[in-house]
Amino acid sequence: MASRWGRREFLRSAIATSMVSAVTGDVAESAQPKLVGSRAAVKDALRTQVLVVGAGASGVPAALAAARGGAKVVLLEDDNTPGGAPVDMYVAMVCGGPIVGIYAEMLELLNRNFHLTAKPTGGAWFLPSAYAEVISRMIRAEPNVQLRCSAPVSEVLISEGSRNRLHGVTVRGADGRQLTIEADVVIDATGSGAVAAMAGCECRYGSEAKSEFDEPTGPAKANDKIQLCTLMLVSQRLRPDGKIDPGKVTGQSCPAEGLNAALHWAGTVSCADTRDPLAVAAAQQEAMQKIEKDIAYLYEHGYTAHIAPKLGVRECRRVVGDHVLTVNDLIASKRADDTVALGNYPLDSWGDRYGAMEKTTLTYTPGGYGIPLRAMITKGMQNLMTVGKCMSATHLAMSAIRVQCIVAQMGQAAGTAAALAATKGTSLRSLKVRDVQAMLRAGGVPL
Ligand SMILES: Cc1cc2nc3c(=O)[nH]c(=O)nc-3n(C[C@H](O)[C@H](O)[C@H](O)COP(=O)(O)OP(=O)(O)OC[C@H]3O[C@@H](n4cnc5c(N)ncnc54)[C@H](O)[C@@H]3O)c2cc1C
Repeated sequence: MASRWGRREFLRSAIATSMVSAVTGDVAESAQPKLVGSRAAVKDALRTQVLVVGAGASGVPAALAAARGGAKVVLLEDDNTPGGAPVDMYVAMVCGGPIVGIYAEMLELLNRNFHLTAKPTGGAWFLPSAYAEVISRMIRAEPNVQLRCSAPVSEVLISEGSRNRLHGVTVRGADGRQLTIEADVVIDATGSGAVAAMAGCECRYGSEAKSEFDEPTGPAKANDKIQLCTLMLVSQRLRPDGKIDPGKVTGQSCPAEGLNAALHWAGTVSCADTRDPLAVAAAQQEAMQKIEKDIAYLYEHGYTAHIAPKLGVRECRRVVGDHVLTVNDLIASKRADDTVALGNYPLDSWGDRYGAMEKTTLTYTPGGYGIPLRAMITKGMQNLMTVGKCMSATHLAMSAIRVQCIVAQMGQAAGTAAALAATKGTSLRSLKVRDVQAMLRAGGVPL
């Protein structure tokens, strides 16, 4: 028998194997060089009621709220893990308010399991890994949410005949795999307005002229200046005799009292264009160089530095919605009839003399300002909503509403509205706002 399995059989078998491999895409030695690298794309398709792109500070509450509202949800994230800024940019500090709804639930879990600082609510910070753990746990607890990580949206599906409807999106993996997801309602929570931009929606970038919306402060002419970016780091004592003066590390810092660890806003730089990933990467290298001396100082004094994997980008595009939120809306503490989220954080525009927190004289009523549903519904689109730091607002108004407790409320509101529209077969603009508000109140947002 052994002699029958001779050279000819072996060759036949080897050729057959290499042909099958070329079709299935397995890596195999091939006698035909032109086949090398010609792997066919593996295509896959999904359909859902609500699609949320971006599992960050606004996208996670959007997905959870839509699921709790009874919708089937797909949540797509570019990174390997959900979380967004608190996880990948080390934006770990709790600030602003009100702290309500799904964001309050997350803080409750963080406080219970990962409490680090002496002040467990406002002014506290938690380790980025604590956010990663709690956020993953909250998503796992919602059976209606299908989370897909390492899933960057690279294309949108729009048909020629109905350009104001977004049928869905396409995700392309680095290995050539392609996933198409169709949805009734899409929520752009990418922080950069990437989905809306791909869909050709109107976006703003930079600062408006003061006169455009008659805002009480701002430059005379519109410009393309956006807020500065910051590379965050966490310092932590390693050597038992280690001792530092946090004031000697560049930028502001927030110590975890009694624990020999601190959160630092260390490397602040200007980015040429935060819409361009290459420009963001270049700015990150500049920030890295800027903090070199801080790292050396920390190590010399027995400390280590955990540097955020991604540069903290405060501002990118702002996607124009049915309403553009302005500084006037904030200082008048306006509560439009379609208010679905609240905020009380002031203007805090880094590197901008018109909106710098320490310089602004604008005041807000203690009850805070309202954020209307219209600002989340993308102008000219039937089924696309935008939340988070890329929501419809002027450059200065955005510097206030960008903090996590407020963007989380936007996400919760948009997810609730999207679920209502998708499950009732209603369009976003014909929803009864009272129904959305009632669901939000039931979900812990006291509008
Ligand atoms: C340096 C710095 C300091 C700050 N300090 C504070 C603070 O102390 N307290 C506070 O509350 N807020 C602070 N903020 C603001 C706050 O962190 C952000 O405004 C907030 O996280 C924005 O939430 P978001 O959901 O819009 O974006 P993100 O939290 O950034 O989430 C966006 C998500 O979308 C994903 N994504 C992007 N593109 C795609 C794509 N094409 N496909 C799939 N997924 C995609 C990203 O990977 C990311 O996970 C700070 C921000 C910065 C940068």
